[in-house]
Amino acid sequence: MELGLRRVRAHASAVLLAASAALLAGSAAFARLGYPLRIATAVVCVLSVAGVVMTWRSGERFGDVTLAGLVVVATGLLTLAAVVSQPSFADLVVLFLLSAIFGACFLAAPFSILVLVICCAAYGWLVASRPPTEVAQAHWTTATLVLASAVAAVWVLRHQLTAAHDELARLATCDPLTGLLNRRGFDQRVGHEIERHRRSSEPFSILLCDLDHFKAINDRHGHAVGDRVLTRVAATLLDGVRTIDAAARVGGEEIAVLLVHCDRDGAHRVAERLRVAVAEPHAGEPDVTISIGIAEAGPEELPAQLYARADGALYDAKHAGRNCIRAAEPLAATAPGGASTLGLVA
Ligand code: GH3
Ligand code: MG
Ligand code: MG
Repeated sequence: MELGLRRVRAHASAVLLAASAALLAGSAAFARLGYPLRIATAVVCVLSVAGVVMTWRSGERFGDVTLAGLVVVATGLLTLAAVVSQPSFADLVVLFLLSAIFGACFLAAPFSILVLVICCAAYGWLVASRPPTEVAQAHWTTATLVLASAVAAVWVLRHQLTAAHDELARLATCDPLTGLLNRRGFDQRVGHEIERHRRSSEPFSILLCDLDHFKAINDRHGHAVGDRVLTRVAATLLDGVRTIDAAARVGGEEIAVLLVHCDRDGAHRVAERLRVAVAEPHAGEPDVTISIGIAEAGPEELPAQLYARADGALYDAKHAGRNCIRAAEPLAATAPGGASTLGLVA
């Protein structure tokens, strides 16, 4: 669970706590609620404290299920106490609204529906426990409508918020010209792979691909054609790797490729395939080639180091005449910090 969501949930539990405490204090001051209901409200306070602490400290392990459990228990206790102390219908709607809205805001849809159904059923039970009058039944219908509408409204807002958040996250990590990831998105993916590499020692490699003499293509054919060529190369690179891999535009005409579960030899084979695919002529477009630098991630290597080694290998590919591939030496086999980390294999 993200820290932001955890914080919001903890704050929400705190708000529930404050609301219950206020209800308790109010009921003591005005003698409005009977003792059973006061006791139940006190229990809600305690459960809210538990909600704040557990959500804040335990993160994912006590996610939706625990939170839903707390809301259901609190709702059940309020219901039981209300059966005994018979508060007004208006008080009851407010109490159940707390649970229903809390569920709609912070729980997954199935749990939120569960809380709503429990609230409506509990309200119905309370109505049934009183002398049957038309007014009481009308109260139940109204309460059910109010609760369901409140939950639906929160869901719509929540959905819009999630969609906006996803779109923002996509825009923040996407290159608009090629549709590939941008440098930020690539760094995030590499960060995840480095974490996985630490845990499982699964190899992974990156390729740094740079279009050869791209400035000349721009100068000769214009920037718009250059853009088209760049977009086509990006698509070729993306099509040439697996869906679990990633490709990102990390500079003007530089594209990085992340190859998961792939050592240096495997990366070399993929790079050769990509190099040949890019060099294939396309009708109506200038020919283009790429040079590629390869680096396989070393143990405990930082993203910047890995990137620098691939960049060094790319530099050597350019110096070797372009339209070719060079790979950095494996990190473990080289002297720490020495220039030999940029040693080459053809
Ligand atoms: P090299 O083989 O050494 O990489 O030569 P190069 O010409 O590709 O490299 P250089 O760094 O000299 O020039 C890169 C060119 O890439 C210059 C710049 O105009 C072009 N470029 C960068 N971003 C874009 C872009 O988004 N669209 C287009 N059309 N061109 C771009
Ligand atoms: Mg270039
Ligand atoms: Mg470049």
